[in-house]
Amino acid sequence: MNKTEVLIIGGGPCGLAAAVGAAKTGAHVVVLERDERLGGILTQCIHNGFGLHLFNEELTGPEYAERWKEKVAEFSNITTITGAFCTSIERAGDKWVVTASSSGGLIEVEARSVILALGCRERPAGSIFLNGERPAGVFSAGCAQKLINIEGKKVGNRAVILGSGDIGLIMARRLICEGSEVVGIYEIMPQSGGLARNITQCVQDFGIPLHLNTTITRVVGKKRVEGVFIAPVDEKLRPKYELEKFIPCDTLLLSVGLQPENEIAKNLGLEFNNITNSYVVDEYYQTSEAGLFCAGNVLHVNDLVDNVSAEGERAGECAGLYAKNKLKYAKKIEITHDDHIKYTAPKYIYDDKNGTAKISFRVNKNYKRTIIRALSAGKEISKRPSPAVTAGEMQTLFIDKTKILNDLHLEIEVME
Ligand SMILES: Cc1cc2nc3c(=O)[nH]c(=O)nc-3n(C[C@H](O)[C@H](O)[C@H](O)COP(=O)(O)OP(=O)(O)OC[C@H]3O[C@@H](n4cnc5c(N)ncnc54)[C@H](O)[C@@H]3O)c2cc1C
Repeated sequence: MNKTEVLIIGGGPCGLAAAVGAAKTGAHVVVLERDERLGGILTQCIHNGFGLHLFNEELTGPEYAERWKEKVAEFSNITTITGAFCTSIERAGDKWVVTASSSGGLIEVEARSVILALGCRERPAGSIFLNGERPAGVFSAGCAQKLINIEGKKVGNRAVILGSGDIGLIMARRLICEGSEVVGIYEIMPQSGGLARNITQCVQDFGIPLHLNTTITRVVGKKRVEGVFIAPVDEKLRPKYELEKFIPCDTLLLSVGLQPENEIAKNLGLEFNNITNSYVVDEYYQTSEAGLFCAGNVLHVNDLVDNVSAEGERAGECAGLYAKNKLKYAKKIEITHDDHIKYTAPKYIYDDKNGTAKISFRVNKNYKRTIIRALSAGKEISKRPSPAVTAGEMQTLFIDKTKILNDLHLEIEVME
């Protein structure tokens, strides 16, 4: 059996940054990646917009991944193995054993710390109860992205997009650049789930109609999609069938959410969050099992890869310190929040009166003017006025941990 101090499952931006973070502690690191290439979802994202925060540049996805591959290559204590699909993770005393399947046979690695950096996958048609027929021409937006950007194939001539998450918005622009027509984007919610910059740059700049409070009620077509029925929805998201309208098209792209790739650790009984559909972590990105860490899109769906890399690097550093018995704990505090906030990551921080904690969270809907506050023992210890917070954008708040007294509560005052 192979042995290492830190094992990382997934060689996307989170896994690569985690490898660098762990290697800096001096730990020996192994990265197992199922694909033949490192870089994760970024290898198919040929648009720019990556790395603005971290490198102060607008890089394409492959360029951003390349930067991290170069960093990984600087460390002789990192081994990366591609073409290795991890199938199980088990406790073995104070260590973990991860099994992966590869073309050369099974790989077993024993590690003191493991980082889950498996990213997420797209929700398929079945998960949204899409009615109607099942002809060819229905793609998830990411699948269409892979076919166009990696395999050089055209997916259709006249497309409708259901859902307005970032991948759908980006693919609307991409389809137009590839000579297809985009009839419209239909979003069931009253707001888009995508970043404001993607709505401007990918939708408005290309004159693509974005219909909010609207959904697809039926897909029509025998061999190939011939069209879809769309209808506005009421306040309970029920379609108003009397207003149904037929939209002829030959392609339907689904951009209806992402699902964390969390199955591998499901039998370990980890503390789970039904909102993120993933595991709960402390400020070290450690799950409820000591030595098992989780970061990036498998922890919660991020909209900016820079945040994923920052999270991964921190998780890697903590996993490295844990492997060397140098990770320091203090009294564990649960972060609570009001109803404007859907969840926080991390959920727990340590009251060590030392340094700054970064708390990421999402709000339940769009708000205009707000003040985001952190309270401890009823006193305000951090505050961030914001001209607008949207459900599609991850929010962050930094907390000076020297100011924490026994508890930590996050709340949002809505001014407008
Ligand atoms: C279409 C699209 C467009 C985006 N556009 C932008 C943008 O413009 N700007 C921006 O900043 N961010 C963007 N993002 C977000 C950003 O790309 C993601 O947040 C980031 O890729 C998440 O990194 P990750 O490492 O957590 O997951 P991933 O990139 O998904 O990497 C996870 C890796 O784990 C591997 N893996 C999974 N399961 C296993 C297993 N069992 N065994 C071994 N390996 C496994 C996968 O093969 C993959 O390589 C976009 C995302 C998408 C999907």
